[in-house]
Amino acid sequence: MFNLKQYEFWFIVGSQELYGEETLRQVAEHARIMVDELNNEPLIPATVLLKPVAKSPDEIRRLFEEATACENCAGLITWMHTFSPSKMWIGGLGANRKPLLHLHTQFNRDIPWASMDMDFMNLNQSAHGDREHGYIYARMRLPRKVVAGFWQDGEVRRRVAVWMRAAAARLDGERSVVMRIGDNMREVAVTEGDKVEAQIRLGWQVNTWAGGELAERFRAVSDKEAEDRVAEYAGVYEIPAALREPGKEGKAILEQAKIEIALTAMLEGEHAGAFTTTFQDIHGLPQLPGLACQRLMEKGYGFGAEGDWKQSMLVRAAKLMAASLPGGVSFMEDYTYHFEPGNEAVLGAHMLEICPSIADKRPRVQVHPLGIGGKAPPARLVFDAAPGPAVLATLVDLGSRFRMIVNEVETVRIEDVAPRGAASLPKLPVARALWKPYPCLRDAAESWIIAGGAHHSVYTTALNAEYFRDWAEISGIEFVLIGRDTTPVRLQDELRRAEAYWQGR
Ligand code: MN
Repeated sequence: MFNLKQYEFWFIVGSQELYGEETLRQVAEHARIMVDELNNEPLIPATVLLKPVAKSPDEIRRLFEEATACENCAGLITWMHTFSPSKMWIGGLGANRKPLLHLHTQFNRDIPWASMDMDFMNLNQSAHGDREHGYIYARMRLPRKVVAGFWQDGEVRRRVAVWMRAAAARLDGERSVVMRIGDNMREVAVTEGDKVEAQIRLGWQVNTWAGGELAERFRAVSDKEAEDRVAEYAGVYEIPAALREPGKEGKAILEQAKIEIALTAMLEGEHAGAFTTTFQDIHGLPQLPGLACQRLMEKGYGFGAEGDWKQSMLVRAAKLMAASLPGGVSFMEDYTYHFEPGNEAVLGAHMLEICPSIADKRPRVQVHPLGIGGKAPPARLVFDAAPGPAVLATLVDLGSRFRMIVNEVETVRIEDVAPRGAASLPKLPVARALWKPYPCLRDAAESWIIAGGAHHSVYTTALNAEYFRDWAEISGIEFVLIGRDTTPVRLQDELRRAEAYWQGR
């Protein structure tokens, strides 16, 4: 679903005319070598495009105007090989609408002690040229990421790649729709929000489509088409023999296959990258979409339950950022706590809709009654999440702004926490993840709640907090991290100070 190479990142090297032809030729040549190498670097997911050395206010303004008009341009990387007076950049930066990364590097790694002369000093001036450049970003209060270090260093490239993925997710969001099928769950506050502001800030179009259209499309899917889809399931999931029989439970899987086919057609028809459902509006469908939502998330669509369009859009952004990386991304909900002293953990799940991309082992298809919604027992995939470092990210609307809250966690095996013999959770037929949040369950939960974090979130083992920080910075929204060094008291003070910062933005 995702081809990140289609996203272009323009590499803009700044200088000025006064250096003369020979120095400027070398600047351009170094930039070419760097761009070629970055394009051959497996860590770099997108395409880096070299632009002519920027030497005058007019050239710079035109470059930024072109970038802003360019459909595939997802962001700009600027670097001052030499000194480029930054008043020359005001016009361009003022016109710019693309995400910015200031790469503070230099062409040579080491000082050439024996051969270094004044020509070398004249050519390799980023240590002060980039300070002049950084000043104008700061003076104009522009959102950007600053990455400092040697350009061949793996960590520098990794951090550039993180930002590229976040910027690509931003561009994807500007061209995508969140398809809301049914409204928010009645009376729930945190899943609500300002959809107009979401489009202004985040680019997403959040619109509604009729549940009746889905039901109509569902009825039009042939049994043959659904049977073929179920045969596909059998290749990737474990399906108990009883469910392959044509009885009642076998019918439940066929119905989910029909929902998946119908939903896919609707999403493709509207260029939607994400969708929501709600158990309070499944009129015309025999079951709440369960397996169908899991399948669509696995393919790369964002999903939010109970009408939660904000998390749906964030799941999609995370799916794009994580494209081709190891690990998975899922919609998630804090379900229940384990408060055993010294062994505290959170069990996350949802009534059905957890993405199999986070599964540890081959998921099993199961059919069970659902105590909510008043429909037939839905088919769903059941599994445990793979252990390892993970993050939870959520997006809330504070009325005057959006806030993203991210918690770093460590996902553990259920058998390492639950008593022997009970770790299979024999009576809980939903997919789940068990994690230990940083800094500890108490402080993480207090901090999350102080910040107004939702019960719904995006859970991922493919991304760390840096991706979400970059995405929030690009989008101009607040970012709050709950990690190893967080204390609830300090966080509360930080959030109060942040009120002043965000006022009038
Ligand atoms: Mn929920």
